Amino acid sequence: MKSDNERGSTIGRRSVLKGVGALTLAPLLLGLGGDKGYTLSPAVDADRDMAKYRTRLVLLGTTGGMTWWPGSKRASASQVLMVGDAIYIIDLGFGSLARLAEAFNFGQFITYEGHPMQLELSSFLTNLRAVFFTHMHMDHLGDYPTFLEIGARAGFGSKEKLPIIGPGNRGRLEENHSGYTGTIIEAQSRDPALVTPSPGIKRTTELLLQAFATTFNDSARDEGYPDIPKIIDVREIGDPKVIPWPPGFKVPDPGKPWSRDDTCPAMEPFEIYRDNLVKVSAILVDHYQLYPTFALRFDTADGSLVISSDTGPDTKGNLQKLAKGADVLVHEVIDEAWVDVAFKGVKEGDPAYALYHHALTAHTPIKDVGKVAEQCGAKTLVLSHIGPANTPMARLKEAQQGFSGKLIIGEDLLQVGVGKPRG
Ligand SMILES: [Zn+2]
Ligand SMILES: [Zn+2]
Repeated sequence: MKSDNERGSTIGRRSVLKGVGALTLAPLLLGLGGDKGYTLSPAVDADRDMAKYRTRLVLLGTTGGMTWWPGSKRASASQVLMVGDAIYIIDLGFGSLARLAEAFNFGQFITYEGHPMQLELSSFLTNLRAVFFTHMHMDHLGDYPTFLEIGARAGFGSKEKLPIIGPGNRGRLEENHSGYTGTIIEAQSRDPALVTPSPGIKRTTELLLQAFATTFNDSARDEGYPDIPKIIDVREIGDPKVIPWPPGFKVPDPGKPWSRDDTCPAMEPFEIYRDNLVKVSAILVDHYQLYPTFALRFDTADGSLVISSDTGPDTKGNLQKLAKGADVLVHEVIDEAWVDVAFKGVKEGDPAYALYHHALTAHTPIKDVGKVAEQCGAKTLVLSHIGPANTPMARLKEAQQGFSGKLIIGEDLLQVGVGKPRG
């Protein structure tokens, strides 16, 4: 089966969003409606293919990892789910905020002495309902500090507190695969019980606000910037009073040796968020030492979207349970041929062994991802978190192996219709 990507697309300067619906690849542009919500621009209105989808996935960043990949312009992992006028962000890897603005930040302009002049400040995040973090790796979090600093200026939290939902504190260090003997960085606190080398999203957010105190305080007092701590609501998955683990789930004992039976035990999906448009469920996947790492499922009236996050192919059936019958499954992938070439001859004890070990144990090879998607019964498989980012298209197309549904090879700013089109 051919993917829509093979047709390619010409992206006009203003038509930055590329769409893959049931029918065709359609360049689209979203206009800004502020409180009135998002509207399609007149230029795009002629192409109704993507406009028919009330619920859409917008890929912001489609690579993984901490490296700059030569020859690739992919940002790191991030995506948006649009449900009508509402948007939800899942992860904010580095480079993704620029993509977010490219996709959504269209202002209203007038012509003043022959030049376009913006009428009002950006408000394109007014309808942002929630932000989700799948795990605490930099390629999913890198743009979070900037988001906190400038996102409120675009309207987040102006209607209601913005829920920011992510993992809690793991409570232990990773196993040492590299022979590292250097500094262990610990998040400090006046309360000795809160000092930790592995803070979750709540402590991380508090510490980010402290780290950037000068600019936050200045923005508030000198520029009328919003009171950020008062307009965000940071919730940790596993916090018993906020988002409890499902019944019967046992938190791994930090005193025991690392085991995949603990970091990705077979479990049932559990709800972590709900509003009038979406229900969001989570389950642990196999990113091993970056426990906890969650795959997320978004159920809407139109259809369902699942984000695998970072995981090896064997989640003890967890991803298959979460993604059962999903309309769209976004799954990470690593090119095993690249691993073979890049780490040729690397042996345990070599400096490069740690990354080699990570690549082999915490990600899903191209040859396996089709089988996983087939087991899930997903209708459409979207490859994202593509590692390396410059993996040749021909290699990525091999992900179709074992999968009878539609394969889409993700690229930044690609849109995918979720579920049934309307009207
Ligand atoms: Zn990642
Ligand atoms: Zn990761």
